[in-house]
Amino acid sequence: MYLSLGSNLGDRQSNLRNATGRLLGLGDVLEVSSLYETEPVEVTDQPWFLNCTVAVRTELIPREFLAGILEIERSMGRLRTQPKGPRIIDIDILLFGPAHINTPTLTVPHPAIAGRRFVLEPLAEIAPDVKVPLLKQTVRELLDALPKGGPKVKKIPRT
Ligand code: ADP
Ligand code: MG
Repeated sequence: MYLSLGSNLGDRQSNLRNATGRLLGLGDVLEVSSLYETEPVEVTDQPWFLNCTVAVRTELIPREFLAGILEIERSMGRLRTQPKGPRIIDIDILLFGPAHINTPTLTVPHPAIAGRRFVLEPLAEIAPDVKVPLLKQTVRELLDALPKGGPKVKKIPRT
């Protein structure tokens, strides 16, 4: 299963690291992408984000896993004030194996996956050949299909 993590408040890098550590309470963390400095989308009048993707293996069912990530966000002090606004930490489920899920609280694959460079670039780093259910294209194909010139995404070299 693949997650997208993002932060644009406080010490963004330690927020991502902290959240990744807490994911160990929900399953095994198999892989973490590089970090990417990304221009905000939708609400553009806010600080740039730091984003990454994470591959996780879990025995939880999607509903339980969602409760787990929302609890990590809450325990790290995330407040929900402005929708799409600044956040200490955001954890989204991108893909959950071959599942498609459509409930009032959970949509998987994540509905915005195909249009977002800040998701697809870090995901292509760890899962380029994974086929996205419903869309029937790989992550790499979706990334290659994105128009150039959208919101900026800059990979931070690993140190
Ligand atoms: P967003 O990530 O869209 O900016 P939030 O992080 O505030 O918004 O999440 C709001 C709600 O989105 C969550 O409480 C959750 O129930 C719902 N949600 C639906 N699909 C997903 C998904 N694939 N991953 C994470 N949350 C999801
Ligand atoms: Mg979210």
